[in-house]
Amino acid sequence: MSALDELRPATRLVHAGQPDCSNGTAPVNIPVVRTSTVRFRDCEEMDAIHHRRDGGETISAYGRHGTETHRALEEALCTLEGGHRALLCPSGLGAISLSFLALTHSGAHVLASDNVYQPIKRIDAALLRKMGVEVSFFSASKDRVQDHLRPNTTLIYSESPGSSLYEMADLQVLGAEAARRGIALVVDNTWASGYLFNPLASGATVSILANTKYISGHSDLMQGAVVLGDPALAKTFDAAYDAMGFCVGADDAYLALRGLRTLGVRMERHGDNALKVAEHLRRLPRVRRVYCPALPDHPGHELWKRDFRGTNGLISVEFDDFEWARITAVADHLSLFSIGASWGGYESLALPTHGDKLASQSSWSGAAGVLRLHIGLEDPQDLIDDLVRAIDLAANLPIPIGAAIS
Ligand SMILES: *Cc1c(COP(=O)(O)O)cnc(C)c1O
Repeated sequence: MSALDELRPATRLVHAGQPDCSNGTAPVNIPVVRTSTVRFRDCEEMDAIHHRRDGGETISAYGRHGTETHRALEEALCTLEGGHRALLCPSGLGAISLSFLALTHSGAHVLASDNVYQPIKRIDAALLRKMGVEVSFFSASKDRVQDHLRPNTTLIYSESPGSSLYEMADLQVLGAEAARRGIALVVDNTWASGYLFNPLASGATVSILANTKYISGHSDLMQGAVVLGDPALAKTFDAAYDAMGFCVGADDAYLALRGLRTLGVRMERHGDNALKVAEHLRRLPRVRRVYCPALPDHPGHELWKRDFRGTNGLISVEFDDFEWARITAVADHLSLFSIGASWGGYESLALPTHGDKLASQSSWSGAAGVLRLHIGLEDPQDLIDDLVRAIDLAANLPIPIGAAIS
């Protein structure tokens, strides 16, 4: 714990990982140090550095281990999340795969909530099953976790709020159960990105961040991070990281740290804008429901209020009796929202999400789908006007709408 850890999140974001001034002067931002080879003064120094690395010190003996640019970002992420170690990964999904690799073995079982980021189901088929690791899913809002744990469960994996519908899990309950059994609780904290919530303080052992999203904040890089709450896990994670040959470019580490400096103000504006848009949309006659944990009628709203400091830019809209083609028509008629995956950049995005993709989530209503919106930093009134116009246009299209209807 440094003095910085005692300060509030917005202050930590500005000062974490800042270059040291004790030699007299320092720049504001960490320099971008790019290298493949690390050069040593002599062979004795090389041996000494390797020895320190083997002892668990985060020190670089090769480009894959990163440079001071990477160390500054790692330090900032640890300060942000209240963690002991951060490992930078080539993507958020890479960070998830790394934690599965580090925390399982052949014959192990992973228990994951059914609302997790969809590609995790691909990790299961492409990697875990081949390694002899079994994955099963449970409902974070409806099931008792105890009923789904097995003697060979080595980790509980959760994401709260969950993807697309923002279903809430009681992470304190999951953390207590994981601690009682001596197993890991891994929480994907991309939704809060360390600013709105810190899972390590609520009993998680590992926090996963897709830096691709709010941390970098400008839709210009792919990156993930694993932040460890328990120093005893470092050795296992280092070994898995090394085996995968993971590394991150210095320019991307620099960009992520630059993004992180303004995470607080961006997140607060995203959240304010999203709430304004949500409040307007939920009163429209064509809208059946707006999914957002900050709305009082959201099923997990009380848990969200207990654990989270605010909301982000994500909302999902369910329309009254809109077929799939009408949902996609809304997206097609928007002019300020781009259509695309991901979120967390400064810009607004719309992504129709088919009901088939939501069917595995126990909180899904069974409608044709939702329109997931990422509310950007534009003026919210312009976004509302754009949405109202597109929804009206889509609602009034003649049936059937082209050939795309399903
Ligand atoms: C986007 C996302 C990821 C994956 O991050 P990438 O950098 O795109 O691989 C993981 N978890 C959640 C919750 C996400 O939204």
